Formats: sequence, C-alpha cells, structure tokens
Amino acid sequence: MKKVILIVLDGYGVSNNPVGNPIYDVNPKNINFYKENFPYTTLDASGEAVGLPKTEVGNSEVGHINIGAGSVVLQDLPRINSSIDDGSFYKNSSLLKTISHVNKSKGNIHILGLVGQGNVHSSLKHLYALLEFYKKNNCENVFLHLFTDGRDSPPKSGIETIKEIEDKVNLIQGDLLDQSSLASALLEAQPDEVYNLAAQSYVKTSWNQPVLTGEFTALGVTRVLEAIRTVNPKIKFYQASSSEMFGKVTETPQKETTRFHPRSPYGVAKVYGHYITVNYRESYGIFACSGMLFNHESPRRGLEFVTRKISHAVARISLGKQKKLELGSLEPKRDWGYAGDYVEAIWLMLAQNKPDDYVIATGENHSVKDFVELAFNYVGIKDWQKYVVSNMEAHMRPAEVDYLIGDASKAKKILGWKPKTSFKQLVELMVETDLKREKKAK
Ligand code: GDP
Repeated sequence: MKKVILIVLDGYGVSNNPVGNPIYDVNPKNINFYKENFPYTTLDASGEAVGLPKTEVGNSEVGHINIGAGSVVLQDLPRINSSIDDGSFYKNSSLLKTISHVNKSKGNIHILGLVGQGNVHSSLKHLYALLEFYKKNNCENVFLHLFTDGRDSPPKSGIETIKEIEDKVNLIQGDLLDQSSLASALLEAQPDEVYNLAAQSYVKTSWNQPVLTGEFTALGVTRVLEAIRTVNPKIKFYQASSSEMFGKVTETPQKETTRFHPRSPYGVAKVYGHYITVNYRESYGIFACSGMLFNHESPRRGLEFVTRKISHAVARISLGKQKKLELGSLEPKRDWGYAGDYVEAIWLMLAQNKPDDYVIATGENHSVKDFVELAFNYVGIKDWQKYVVSNMEAHMRPAEVDYLIGDASKAKKILGWKPKTSFKQLVELMVETDLKREKKAK
C-alpha cells in the first residue's frame, strides 16, 4: 500500500501579494521542494470559509475546528447572531432557567464577561440581547461586570464601549432642592435602595456658602427621606455621613457613640443629616442607615482636596511639567482610606437584616506631610522639600478639626468589613494614575 503524508502548514499565511510577505522574501527551500514535487493546495482560512462573519480574519482556534471537522463549522458569533435575529435566543432554555431561579429566590442577575468592539471574544450585540431578554422577563436587578480584553479592545476603546452602554441607561433627573422632583424620580425608578451621596461636600467652601450648604447637605436629606416615606417606605436608605461631624473630638479614636462637635458649616449640616436619618428610622420604621465615613480618597478625587492636589502635582513635577507644590499646613492628620473599600462597606450596610449606623475608617492616621513624602518617594524624589511651599495664610480655615481617627470595630464585627488597601498603596495608586494621565496628556 502506498503511504500518504498530509502536511498542514498552520499559520503559514500565503498571500497573492508578494511585497512585504516573509514567505516570498525568505524563499524556503524545503517547502519549495514539496511544492514542486508533490500536489498541494492553499486553504481559505478567514471569514465565512471557516464559519466566521464575512470580513473577520481567521485564527488558530477556528482553523483547527474546521480542519478537524472536515467541514465549515459555524462559529459562536454568527451562530448567536442568527439566533438573536430569528428570536430563538429569547427561548434558550438555560437562559429561561436563570429567570425562573432569580424570580423564585428574588435574587439579582450578574453578567460577567469580556466586552469589546472586535467581535472575536465578545459582541456588544449579544450583551444588548441579554439585557433585552432580562428586561422582557421583568428582571430589574441586572449588574454588569465587564472586562475589556486585548484582542478585542484597541487602546482607549473601553471608554467608547462604556459610553455606548451608558447611552442605554436611563438617567432620571432629580434635585435635592426640589421635593417633588425627588418623589417623581422614585416613582419612575421604583428602586429598592437609595444611596444619598449628594452634598455640597467641600469643607472650605462651606464657610463661603453656609446657607446653600445647609440646603443641600442638611435639608436635602429630609427631602429624600420624605420622598421615600410618601412613595414607598420599604425603600432602603443610605445617608453619607462624615467624620467631620466629630470635629473637635471628645474622644480618640472616634466611634458611633462619640459626641459630635462639628467645626464647619459642612460638619454642622452633616450632623443634621445624620440625626434626621436616625429619626426617620425611629419615627417611621424606614430601613435607614447612616455611614460615618472618614476621609476616603481615590484617583477620582477633585483637585480641591489635598490628596489629589498632591498626587497630581507630584506626577507633574516628576515629568518636568510643574515646578512647585503650594500647600497650607503640612501638620493636619487624617484617617485616609481608599474609596473603593468604603463603597463595599456602604453596600454591606443595606444588605443587613437590621438598619444601623456605622463608623468606617482605617484606624490609622497620617499627616499631610506623610502623604507628600510617600508620593515624592514613589517617583524617586527624596529631597521633596525643595518643591513644596507651605503657604499657611492662603489655606487658612476659620476652624480646623483636630485629630481624626476612626474606630471601625462595629463594622468589622457586624458587617465583616475591613479595609483592604494600605495608606502606602493608596498614595501610590493615586500618583501612578496621575502619572499615566499626565503622560497621555503630553
Ligand atoms: P477635608 O478633610 O474634607 O477638609 O479634606 P481636604 O483634603 O480638603 O483637607 C485635608 C487637610 O489638609 C485639611 O486639614 C487641610 O487644611 C489640609 N491642607 C493643607 N494644605 C492643603 C491644600 O493645599 N488644599 C487642601 N484642600 N487642604 C490642605
């Protein structure tokens, strides 16, 4: 019997155009010998020939499947596309099972996966079809956990993708100064939970705008609570209270039972917000929680806050874009945590059986000077004093809070919460992000 050897050259891209094609440039001896002495053919390995959409370039995965099967195997993307188009997607038994499970358990849907515009590992059309499917089946709590991936997502395309998804989100207008707009927003959205993070939240500005600060930061809370009471008192409510309520501290560290002594119109307004939250819980049985969060920072902080002002300036100084960093006093100390960790604590508060109030803090405090030193160290500058100017007068506040440091042991015991990010990691995360932003900005 005559022996036959079949050689498949995978990844050997034959093109009709010899220019810039390594196969023609190298002129491989052995392969040329086979081509001259034995029958050979080339395989079409892209687009519809291998079960991909028309213009899609091939990849090893589909090449192997098609060669192995000996016929065209329709790939996931066109197969799911056609099922969306003919409606069979919406009758998929596995998807329907998730609906009945979630409806029974009153649970949430979490969609985890890759997103991108490339249509190789994921497709936005599929994501939208899933969202449509859950909407049709009255599943309201759908959470998206999306990852961009290198193959499908060119640099910066993630921003575009998120914008596209956001366009599908319905934003409802509401204003803390306008009682009826809040009630209408609740009626329209029918939420299970409301998180009130809105305020005039910059301490220094609160001396210039004390009345407006009171309107938003204090009375605004009552307006939201009144809207909840009248529209649906079963809505759970979170109020963003603040360590500024402790101000001139009466004990150290500060915990839930520590007496308040606010030192700014902002702190005073927050004390009102805290007590009205407690009062609606006691008066009407509303599931209302007040989270007394110590300073929580992230690369998203505005430049008016000292942490971001420092990380931004240090990044710029290290790149030669800025010469000096002007601050007020370097002595004040704060219990600075990472905002991402604190949001988890907020969410946990509303996930309990009983509403309550919690202090959320790291239990460590550091001075402005510590922050400055670590930030400069991260970019390799040891003699940071050369770059920092302390202008006490320009940054003077009529009154300062003293030694803020929180005791979050109640949150640890009841919520099982503790911070995951250290002070050093926080500083480095902020400087690193600003470095990236500044490098991109040129
Ligand atoms: P706050 O704790 O909400 O007031 O947060 P800030 O980031 O505004 O201020 C933290 C501390 O840093 C305060 O004690 C400020 O007086 C002090 N500080 C020193 N220099 C500056 C500065 O240049 N800007 C700001 N915002 N604060 C500064």
